[in-house]
Amino acid sequence: MNMAEIRHPNALRGRWLENEPMAKHVSWRAGGTAKRAYLPADRADLALMIAGLPAGEPIMFVGLGSNLLVRDGGFPGTVVFVHSVLGSIERVGAQAIRVGAGAASPKLARFAALHDLVGAEFLAGVPGTIGGALAMNAGCYGGETWRIVCEVTTLGRDGSFMTRSPDDYEIGYRHVALHPRTSAREEWFVDATFLLEAGSGVEGRARIKDFLARRIATQPLNQPNAGSVFRNPPGDYAARLIEACGLKGHRVGNAAISAKHANFIVNLGGARAADIEALIELAQQNVRAHSGIGLECEVRIVGEPA
Ligand SMILES: Cc1cc2nc3c(=O)[nH]c(=O)nc-3n(C[C@H](O)[C@H](O)[C@H](O)COP(=O)(O)OP(=O)(O)OC[C@H]3O[C@@H](n4cnc5c(N)ncnc54)[C@H](O)[C@@H]3O)c2cc1C
Repeated sequence: MNMAEIRHPNALRGRWLENEPMAKHVSWRAGGTAKRAYLPADRADLALMIAGLPAGEPIMFVGLGSNLLVRDGGFPGTVVFVHSVLGSIERVGAQAIRVGAGAASPKLARFAALHDLVGAEFLAGVPGTIGGALAMNAGCYGGETWRIVCEVTTLGRDGSFMTRSPDDYEIGYRHVALHPRTSAREEWFVDATFLLEAGSGVEGRARIKDFLARRIATQPLNQPNAGSVFRNPPGDYAARLIEACGLKGHRVGNAAISAKHANFIVNLGGARAADIEALIELAQQNVRAHSGIGLECEVRIVGEPA
């Protein structure tokens, strides 16, 4: 796409970035550039920009980049950053909270506990946005994002907003897709309403504290990472399978399989996306050879190799 192909550019109030290094925007602190990136001024500006992009332009919404790797050759389209504009959070009923897709997920956990609503505590340690949590069906410690969603608003490629219910989606373990019976369109999340249970905020805060302490004890949080790289296969743990292959601490370039948690890959400083991807493939090959199990990637890998 050429910038001249964007419709009504003068009406847009957001900010364009060209050849934006995505290492600045993903928790792995590695990877290539986005050909273009857009920082919308507000929700209406976002809709206008999306509607003005030529058909065929690849679009990727990015939250806090905590589950994302952009290959070293870059993303050949438009990246949209929503965390600076869609960050609202408000109570909209006795047990309902509406949150913008750009708000950090831990903010919902804390806000809910402050209002004596429980069920969102698990999100306290998921370091992404609500948009990312919806796209991934993020979960941990027995909680899962879509179990507490009652409604979402999405933005389609034509710039129109739509309200959807969980019934419109096929939802599974780290998987969310529009149900085939829905009107298919390319769309992204702009907000979600969560329905929680009335309960003790004091107990909710204690659970949050416990979840965070467990993470500090078991995850390499002092090194750039993207959380669990692989989905756990049914009845087993990816970390256990990788560790059984003797891969803890194994290094490719400046990336390594964490010595603390084998389902984490850490950037030791200056890793390329290709180093991380090589470790992903190595772990998959070794686990398949060792136990016959095919590990599926949980992190999203996009863009082109260098
Ligand atoms: C230390 C650490 C611990 C983690 N622990 C957990 C955990 O316990 N459980 C868990 O599930 N995950 C975990 N993760 C992974 C990650 O935090 C979650 O998947 C999170 O929900 C991703 O949110 P994000 O905003 O960072 O998404 P991004 O990484 O920015 O994007 C992820 C995907 O979501 C899409 N996306 C983002 N925003 C939108 C939107 N508004 N509309 C449509 N699509 C969108 C992106 O295009 C991309 O495909 C962890 C990560 C780290 C670094």
